[in-house]
Amino acid sequence: MKQRYDFIVIGGGPGGTPTAMALASAGKQVLLVEKGQGLGGTCLFEGCIPSKILRESARRLVEIREATDFGLKLETQSLQLDWNAIQQRKQNILTKRSMGAQQKLKQIPNLELIMGTASFIDDKQVKITPHTGDSQTVSFDKAIIATGSTPARPPIEGIDLPNVLDSEQILSIDHLPEKMVIIGAGPIGIELAQIFHTFGCEVSILEAGAHILAPVDQELAEQLKQQMMDDGIAITTNCKVKQISETASELSVNYQTDAGESLERSAEIVLLVTGRHPNTDGLGLENTQVEFNPQGIQVNAQLQTSENTIYAVGDVIGQPMFAHWATAQGLALAKNLMGMKVPMPDKQTNSAVIFSQPEIGMVGLTEAQATQAGIDYSVARYDFAQDARSQISGRASGVLKILFETQGHKIIGVHALTEGADDLMGEAALVVKTGIPLEALAGSIHPHPTLTESFAQAARMALAKLQAGIST
Ligand SMILES: Cc1cc2nc3c(=O)[nH]c(=O)nc-3n(C[C@H](O)[C@H](O)[C@H](O)COP(=O)(O)OP(=O)(O)OC[C@H]3O[C@@H](n4cnc5c(N)ncnc54)[C@H](O)[C@@H]3O)c2cc1C
Repeated sequence: MKQRYDFIVIGGGPGGTPTAMALASAGKQVLLVEKGQGLGGTCLFEGCIPSKILRESARRLVEIREATDFGLKLETQSLQLDWNAIQQRKQNILTKRSMGAQQKLKQIPNLELIMGTASFIDDKQVKITPHTGDSQTVSFDKAIIATGSTPARPPIEGIDLPNVLDSEQILSIDHLPEKMVIIGAGPIGIELAQIFHTFGCEVSILEAGAHILAPVDQELAEQLKQQMMDDGIAITTNCKVKQISETASELSVNYQTDAGESLERSAEIVLLVTGRHPNTDGLGLENTQVEFNPQGIQVNAQLQTSENTIYAVGDVIGQPMFAHWATAQGLALAKNLMGMKVPMPDKQTNSAVIFSQPEIGMVGLTEAQATQAGIDYSVARYDFAQDARSQISGRASGVLKILFETQGHKIIGVHALTEGADDLMGEAALVVKTGIPLEALAGSIHPHPTLTESFAQAARMALAKLQAGIST
């Protein structure tokens, strides 16, 4: 470790690592400090990747169960779920990816990685405490905080009982639970509910709000909720969990409905997924002028904190909390710090996927947001029940909604509920970011038979209706 660096980046997740790499690749002396088990952050070790690895096993299981629909006769009765093997596969992928990231870093000469903890002494110096070796004070020109977030723990009586787990703990649980109550119906709760339900766990969800997946297009969220309930997942909205207690053999969750009724639900495992808390503790922020609150570190449009030598990106500055968003912020920040004037990522054009089954993908404004903003908009729709690719894959359900300004037809939002919606969002993000009109989408040629045809089809049908004077 040197005594001085141009930049110190704290946190080696999807926010910090690409930022450090971009700055060092441009010739700056950079120190990246990561306090975890390896490089990758929440995304790699406790978030995006492990959840998708479990989800992939669940998806394969569904495919095998439905094989006879595709003319494949299988003796599914003999199908065994090997939980240890699933966990081992997960671990192998995580290790490989983390090592791969470290290898990439080593190829950048100006970039030094220290596994340890960083804490501010003042606006120009940090104390680095490596996992092995002595602490050292290091000075910097500029620091970037990318320390991420951890699961929030709401003040519910009994949340410290054994078997009350958070999203990070459930992903590494050593056995498949038989019965689980999930508190919270946000993106993580919904994803995990379907994964564990597919594996054979009895799952119920308790949600305080009136809807599941609050920020998502309501029509799509309601369709998904209905489908989950038809599949056997119990979902109760408008209820408040009051207490978790231990009975002789399991846990009991006491909750109150909107009508004031007090009810109980029993479970082997209670999973808490009620949001995430930005990681500001232990950073020594009290030794600086950096302002923060429970929602995260306060930054201006340039991602600069109230201390002009210190910047912050990713989950630590609050919503939205996505890996690709953290990376986009970090890369734009690095460019600006290098003197290139590039626009910072815009929440209005950020894309997101709920990894439900089927997925929900979204970019830009929802109908509720467009209405609130007073925008005169129309909706181009496409029903995946009539889609060739969806019929071929046996998943002919769901809907695509393209929101466009009624005057000029500029596309302002894309929302899809269908299997494959995750991969549709790449094109959707570009469409919303570039602000092209519906006519441009209608005129683009999409390969057949693919789900992407839905974009042009929806656009063409909406334009035809408009031409005929029919409301969309
Ligand atoms: C179950 C789950 C599933 C998810 N799925 C998705 C998904 O599918 N797609 C998606 O886009 N997002 C997903 N997310 C969200 C995503 O993981 C986060 O938005 C993303 O990891 C944020 O990146 P970050 O770099 O800001 O923080 P993090 O990834 O949290 O990285 C921060 C790093 O900083 C380190 N650190 C903290 N304090 C210090 C310190 N003082 N010194 C040194 N190092 C420190 C931490 O150890 C950590 O490695 C999921 C999250 C969860 C929990």
